[in-house]
Amino acid sequence: MDGALERMRLAAALWSVDGAQNGPEIIDAACELLASGYDGVNLAVLAGVMRQHAADEVPEFLEAALHDVGLDLYPPDAHEAQAIAVGHLAARTVAGEMSPEEFVEWALTGAEDFAEPLLALGSDYVNSARPRREIDAEVLVEARRLAFDFEQYARRVADGPCFVCATVAGHPDYRHHVVFEDDETIAFLNREPTLLGYTLVGPKRHLESWVDDLDQAAFERFQGTVHRVARAIAGTLPTERMYSMSFGSRLGNSHLHWHLAPLPPGVPYERQQFHAVMAENGVLDVSDESQAELAREIRSRM
Ligand SMILES: [Zn+2]
Repeated sequence: MDGALERMRLAAALWSVDGAQNGPEIIDAACELLASGYDGVNLAVLAGVMRQHAADEVPEFLEAALHDVGLDLYPPDAHEAQAIAVGHLAARTVAGEMSPEEFVEWALTGAEDFAEPLLALGSDYVNSARPRREIDAEVLVEARRLAFDFEQYARRVADGPCFVCATVAGHPDYRHHVVFEDDETIAFLNREPTLLGYTLVGPKRHLESWVDDLDQAAFERFQGTVHRVARAIAGTLPTERMYSMSFGSRLGNSHLHWHLAPLPPGVPYERQQFHAVMAENGVLDVSDESQAELAREIRSRM
């Protein structure tokens, strides 16, 4: 499922669980679908609804517009809609975009099917003398679990999670050896390295194009991090040349990520450059423990 369709599915899920309050988001998602090449008379009508009329007009056109793009309208508080919405907000909480307390407040009303483990924590915020940090930490554990559940669910109902978003959310099938992380960016060792120290650096937000989705300032910040990570790798491993690339495809691995591939000295010329970064030419047989150790060393130089 591509980004625009995924956003509409999420907006429709929130529409179901939040009591039809996010009309403007639905309109935005419809516009994005049109801009991404989706078509449909009803979709076009929905995209044309004026924001100030959203409350009246979105309900009129939403179901038919969703059908135009192969999605269904979830009934109010549908279990599936709750699963999608809670998974998304849990991932946002893990990423630090929503506070644990806000997440609990939302989940207790918006995702009742999933909120049971959060009930006690919700009342702790109000009633207990426990330190807030402690409650936050327990909420984050639950948020990680709910984000995992969502990703597993998403793989069943769609065509697999985004590997960077899943890594950020802490999905157990997407464990990577992280070498750097801040609010915006994550860097981790490639799980299928053609070169020792091969590292991927990506924005935590699901962005796809470094040309269109990052403005100059954001790109320079991102590249500043890429440079720091590259220096840390080169400080850890003998590096004759640091390869630096952005690949990815709409058909898979669409989340923007930068490749840093350190070429060691002594590689024959014909095995350098593209040859050295193509998994088709063979990946290194490295143990999880040695990768963990390598990640620790790189991290210590950041
Ligand atoms: Zn992503």
